[in-house]
Amino acid sequence: MNPNSTSRTSMPSRLLFSQQSEKWNSLFSNIRSFLLNAVLQVRILRKAYPGIMHFLIFWGVTIQVVGTAINLMQMELFVPFVELPFPRGSWYLAYELIMDLAGVAIVIGVAMAFFRRSVLHPKTLESRWDDLFALILLALIPLVGFTLESLRILTVEPVWSIWSPVGRALANLLAYLGMEASFASKLHPYFFWTHMSLGLILVASIPFTKMRHLILTPLNVIMHPKRKAGVLEIIENIEQAELLGVGQITEFSRSQLLSFDACVRCGRCEEVCPATLSGMSYSPRKFIKTHRETMLTTITYPNGKAEKQLLGGDISEEYPWVCTTCGACSNICPAFVNPIDEIIDLRRYQALTTGKLPKPVADVLRNMERQGNPWGMPAEERIAWANELNIKELTPGDSTDVLLFLGCALAYDERNKKVAQAFIRVLQNADVDFAYLGLDEACCGETARRLGHEYLYQMLAEQNIEVLSKVKFNRVVTQCPHCFNTLKNEYPQMGANFIVQHSTEFLAELTTFQSLGIKGSNGSRKQRLTFHDSCYLGRYNAIYKEPRSLLNMSNGNLVEMSRCIENSFCCGGGGGQMWMETDPNTRINHNRLAEVLDIQADIVTTACPYCLIMFDDAIRSKGLSEQLQVLDVVEVIDAQLAK
Ligand code: SF4
Ligand code: SF4
Repeated sequence: MNPNSTSRTSMPSRLLFSQQSEKWNSLFSNIRSFLLNAVLQVRILRKAYPGIMHFLIFWGVTIQVVGTAINLMQMELFVPFVELPFPRGSWYLAYELIMDLAGVAIVIGVAMAFFRRSVLHPKTLESRWDDLFALILLALIPLVGFTLESLRILTVEPVWSIWSPVGRALANLLAYLGMEASFASKLHPYFFWTHMSLGLILVASIPFTKMRHLILTPLNVIMHPKRKAGVLEIIENIEQAELLGVGQITEFSRSQLLSFDACVRCGRCEEVCPATLSGMSYSPRKFIKTHRETMLTTITYPNGKAEKQLLGGDISEEYPWVCTTCGACSNICPAFVNPIDEIIDLRRYQALTTGKLPKPVADVLRNMERQGNPWGMPAEERIAWANELNIKELTPGDSTDVLLFLGCALAYDERNKKVAQAFIRVLQNADVDFAYLGLDEACCGETARRLGHEYLYQMLAEQNIEVLSKVKFNRVVTQCPHCFNTLKNEYPQMGANFIVQHSTEFLAELTTFQSLGIKGSNGSRKQRLTFHDSCYLGRYNAIYKEPRSLLNMSNGNLVEMSRCIENSFCCGGGGGQMWMETDPNTRINHNRLAEVLDIQADIVTTACPYCLIMFDDAIRSKGLSEQLQVLDVVEVIDAQLAK
């Protein structure tokens, strides 16, 4: 047998198998997402009051719709074509009880909604005519239904009426008020048709009112892209790609267009967006709403308007440049809308198609193109400071246990160089077999990618992947969460798969094995430490406990800020924001610093070079250097080792 023929037949079957398993995985992931978020409403329930309110209305309406459908099937219109043998006997009693309880759930949920809108009135809650219309309709349907039921009970007096407790109680009340069975039977048809009409109005209004979310939001829960959070969509075959970013509404993907319609305008994204909360004239909800309106006016009534440019038209050219890509909005959105995808598409259009970029963005991208780093420092200075530290430099064919990926911030920024030096000291202290790539290490490309220059990102990523493929290592360890997220989660889109750890993850493992010789706190906890979760380490990669476990080994007393862990508040430096000019009155890092001051911390710790720079900047500009220190977690460990 020709060996080549074997390989030719076996490859496609392997590929077929992997494609099939991908399809199954995607199907299971869609089912799981639907069950968790559309059926069990897990995301919606993250906020107690509106979560419970929505849960009661959703389940009340769902049960009532299913129950009504079962009831309709018993009607002459359907019998004998479809005759359900259900509900009968004791099942019917259970059915009556469940329908009654579902009606009560709707009434309570709607009452909570009215109370929220009229009394609590949260700042981000929008009120439009269809919000009120939906609530009035949802209130009337069960109320008329209960009255209808009570009239039936009063007329027929069935023995099972106790199983319709609300209808029974209402019938008793009507009888007490003097209503007789004959009058109840005359009223019954009016209430029956009113009830039917309200139900039909509800169904007919779905496409034209907020009620459309009954269909579109669960659909978006299933259809939204299942990329890992923090991973941007790759532009495949970028050299040949005809579309680089999005300039017109029709260029968004179908799932993006669906997501605009799935947004329920709940405002949860606005409540957590650092740009909105810091006073910038930006809101992710407004951003999505504008896209929806543009979609409706261009796609529904084209007349050539679909050609209209988004930027400079419905969306100002500056609008895409205030987002820090922190992920707080997409993480909280109950409808799984992800504004970051649209932000990046618009940035890509500006960076790769029109070239109309804000000056600081153009400068950073030029620095990266010319010098290979956002700082614009000469490439050869990348490791000048590290030469005296005797770090093993890998050349093709060499091997090591830990490949230390420095990243531009730790290589070029003066303050962060100290953090890199502290980490190297800790590794040397712990006898870790580590090495770095020296001048062969290129920028990971994250800044270029977040600023929309996908082409430059892919070029830098390919460069690094090629260098990494020529050396042997067990894992890559990096101190920068941006490099970490890119190497770990985004390089696989380009075919590179290796173990990547953040420095805190790696050190937490080491200390577990007592390799560092840190004995833990000596009991005299004097200083108040707090930890700021970086978005790319925490929210996107769920590394929360490792930095805290390291800090708990210090002599500091760890206190948490009000917004921490998954709900942490961005430092303002991500998504390329570190390079942008910002209005001193709307600085995100100042907003975050205020939280550190609120808990009277002596030291704010981070595990990200950008966060460190943003805090450093805020502390200096507020003149608080004497009162508050900012340190990387690794520096705390290094200091502990030195004791
Ligand atoms: S994008 Fe999501 S969180 Fe924001 S308003 Fe729409 S549904 Fe709510
Ligand atoms: S990613 Fe962060 S900054 Fe950007 S819109 Fe969402 S919450 Fe706002």
